[in-house]
Amino acid sequence: MGPYFDIVIVGGGPAGLTAAVYARRAGRSVLLLERESFGGQIASSPKVENFPGFSAISGAELSDRLYSQAEALGAQIELEEVQSLQPGTPHTVTTDYGVYRAGAVILATGMQHRSLGLPGEDRLAGVSFCAVCDGAFYAGQDTAVAGGGNTAFQDALYLADICRHVTLLHRREEFRADPVLVEEARGRSNITLLPSTVVTALEGTDRLTGLVLKNTATGEVSRLPVSALFEAVGQQPETRVAAALFSLDPAGFLPAGEDCLTSIPGLFAAGDCRTKAVRQLTTACADGAAAALAACQFCRELERRT
Ligand code: NAP
Repeated sequence: MGPYFDIVIVGGGPAGLTAAVYARRAGRSVLLLERESFGGQIASSPKVENFPGFSAISGAELSDRLYSQAEALGAQIELEEVQSLQPGTPHTVTTDYGVYRAGAVILATGMQHRSLGLPGEDRLAGVSFCAVCDGAFYAGQDTAVAGGGNTAFQDALYLADICRHVTLLHRREEFRADPVLVEEARGRSNITLLPSTVVTALEGTDRLTGLVLKNTATGEVSRLPVSALFEAVGQQPETRVAAALFSLDPAGFLPAGEDCLTSIPGLFAAGDCRTKAVRQLTTACADGAAAALAACQFCRELERRT
């Protein structure tokens, strides 16, 4: 059978933790399940400057604060990976450790990093998806970042303080990142921006030693010796648990409106995994609040019926 919670939240990023705060403040029993680490993508952001009330805060500190707030309010928080979700009254949530029953479930599973898909990517030391986590291993060395968005530029700027040289490789001529970040990178003497450039191969046996590059405008092939490549080529929604239950939208996101209601009664989608126009920390938190309040309402209706 497994223990019963009014609301089970899947995912411990800003959306999930905010949902836990709202649901606990509404007096509901809450179990929050996270498979890896708390805070989601924001946890590895060196500096968050667009969260209201904080002109600058590290992603790690903000994540810690969110976690502590949810825990202090009485949410049960477990590091367990959800294997399956069976809708019903109650819903059944099966993890690698046990089975739980839930009046309502909030899916706040966020996004996971996209990779370049190059041979050797999984095997070679020196290929990373997190500059803040791994950058220090390459202090004083030459490194590269792939991508042209805000993450790639933030990573390049972070690495430039640690590494000898950082080359940012972007497949198009125009950068997607905010102009302020692009200008800051242009101003650093140890950052080289290489637009219209793709990585076609990784070199090295156990450790990365260099990259084979191709200029997409001229077709010219070149080599870039580096000890690390940080891939910052975007994210894709994490919907493994939900994919069996819903038709995802064409981009792979969970269809649900601003009210976070999915097509299945008592199942809610919140944060970056949901179909939406703006994916930011603030909108993830907003979703967490909306989903929790809708889930509380659903629990009240369940109680009225029984
Ligand atoms: P993103 O904005 O989607 O950028 C991904 C980059 O990777 C794009 O430049 C894209 O190229 C490139 N790319 C995608 N697939 C590729 C492939 N197969 N090969 C080579 N390049 C590829 O992702 P992000 O930088 O992770 O940011 C995600 C979201 O978080 C964005 O909304 C961003 O604004 C936000 N964010 C905000 C901050 C902040 O401080 N405000 C910091 C980090 C992230 P194209 O440009 O050609 O598509």
